[in-house]
Amino acid sequence: MSPSIDRAPSSSASPGREDPRVSGRYDFIVCGAGSAGCALAGRLAENPAISVLLIEAGGDDEAPEVLVPGRWPLNLGSERDWGFVAQPNPHLNHRAIPLNMGKVLGGGSSINVMVWARAHQNDWEHFAEEADDEAWGYHAVLEIYRRIEDWQGAPDPARRGLGGPVHVERVRDPQPVAIAMVNAAEALGMPAFESPNGAMMEGRGGVAFNDLIVKDGMRASVFRAYILPKRHQSNLTVLTHTQVSRLILSGTTVIGVEAFCDSARLRFMADREVILCMGAINTPKTLMQSGIGPQEELRRHGIPVVQHLPGVGRNHQDHVSFGCIFESRTPIAMGHGGSEATLYWKTDPGMRLPDVFQCQLEFPVATPETARRGVPEHGWMVFAGLSHPKSRGSLHLSGPEAHHPIRIEANTLSHPEDLRRAMTTIEIAREMAHAPSFRGLLKREALPGRLDASELQDYIRHAAVTFWHQACTAKMGVDSMSVVDNRLRVYGLERLRIADASIFPDMPSGNTMAPCVVIGERAAELIMATHGL
Ligand SMILES: Cc1cc2nc3c(=O)[nH]c(=O)nc-3n(C[C@H](O)[C@H](O)[C@H](O)COP(=O)(O)OP(=O)(O)OC[C@H]3O[C@@H](n4cnc5c(N)ncnc54)[C@H](O)[C@@H]3O)c2cc1C
Repeated sequence: MSPSIDRAPSSSASPGREDPRVSGRYDFIVCGAGSAGCALAGRLAENPAISVLLIEAGGDDEAPEVLVPGRWPLNLGSERDWGFVAQPNPHLNHRAIPLNMGKVLGGGSSINVMVWARAHQNDWEHFAEEADDEAWGYHAVLEIYRRIEDWQGAPDPARRGLGGPVHVERVRDPQPVAIAMVNAAEALGMPAFESPNGAMMEGRGGVAFNDLIVKDGMRASVFRAYILPKRHQSNLTVLTHTQVSRLILSGTTVIGVEAFCDSARLRFMADREVILCMGAINTPKTLMQSGIGPQEELRRHGIPVVQHLPGVGRNHQDHVSFGCIFESRTPIAMGHGGSEATLYWKTDPGMRLPDVFQCQLEFPVATPETARRGVPEHGWMVFAGLSHPKSRGSLHLSGPEAHHPIRIEANTLSHPEDLRRAMTTIEIAREMAHAPSFRGLLKREALPGRLDASELQDYIRHAAVTFWHQACTAKMGVDSMSVVDNRLRVYGLERLRIADASIFPDMPSGNTMAPCVVIGERAAELIMATHGL
């Protein structure tokens, strides 16, 4: 397959004159067209004086599985999924859990559940403390959100934006299961809010119908928001089916990237900067295979060390959740995407951040192990999750080349407190399901059902799945395990930044797409300031 080249480099950025092996020369090379990469490349390309190359390993997004909201599960296991799988984990009864990630223009924003969630106020305050920079704090980030959003709901001018590239709307015509969840949570004492992206995430939490990136009934991904309208521009080149394999360095200065399309090896040079936006797995992988990472890990695979950075591929975090499945008397209708209500809750009001994170799904999904206990034909579920798991994982190379798969030691539930909190979140989900608002929808609780404490722990280990929010593997901060500084520059390297879910110091309380768009926007702001653009 040859790379799809939307637009040849402009004459001022003409490829390979001085070196026939060079496939192109640009001001900025953005590696990865996901949630953060599209926002970043789109913003940079607004300046016609600079040339931007956006490189994506996956293909186009013109597929009903991407565009029709309810079809998102069909992307899992398809060519639009990297198909990562964690290593077998003793804390999950030795299960090796799938960790899907988007491999298509738009990245995760093209295959995800479309939920737009902006994290808690104190998540951003925490990131600002870790970065030692107020510019990552909530008030600064609210400003960024206001320019990102084209919010269709009730006006909230202090917090919500109008006229920005990302169309965000409140779920339309919520399904009975979502309505029941909001009412049940209220009955348990959790306040209901108009939107999960306002006052709700400045306090103890609560419940709300979701905000979604759905426009006119179709997915409006971050690629469609930022890149599609600019695809005709001569200063923006988008390559698909092209996989970045390593950085090209001159000493500790990054001058370009190597990539391949099938067996063809390509070299692209960057006159100003390279920005890695390949997500929380492939960004650290590419760093390590370029000689940037923990020196013992690099030496094990014969990779010459350019910069010892012990934090690359460490601090792996993800939201974990546990399916609570309920049988209904009749089939459940599916709304946009199948998940229309979310709750966040601090079980102790003294907590800085919510510990419980749950959403409802309009269809039951069990793991292969819990499915053996019986999954009802008709039903719904609560995806009962943890907002801030304490378990930490790590990434390891299996070889020096891009085709050598990464080993993900996710270590889910390795921290004993996560198991305790898992029991709490499940208890809340079960209490909600038995609230009066679910009466017409509940025939019986299918899973976990009545179990004693040790049986429930066993259920939890069999039921644990990812919320698909892998993050934090090249964290921003000032300690020795930090990989980027407050301006997203990789420590010890010149002309290299990271802008994706890798840089979170810790998990945001909720879904990760919107915070990644903030990272892309912030990166654009920082880069333009650095270069006086
Ligand atoms: C099934 C699923 C459901 C989810 N649901 C939600 C949800 O409803 N709401 C929400 O907020 N979040 C959700 N998420 C998470 C969210 O989509 C991601 O956290 C977010 O997209 C991460 O953004 P990113 O910029 O870090 O990377 P990504 O969006 O993952 O983008 C990285 C891009 O880089 C490309 N890439 C990787 N390696 C290379 C390489 N070597 N060369 C070139 N390109 C490369 C990838 O193909 C991809 O397009 C979901 C994720 C999944 C998988």
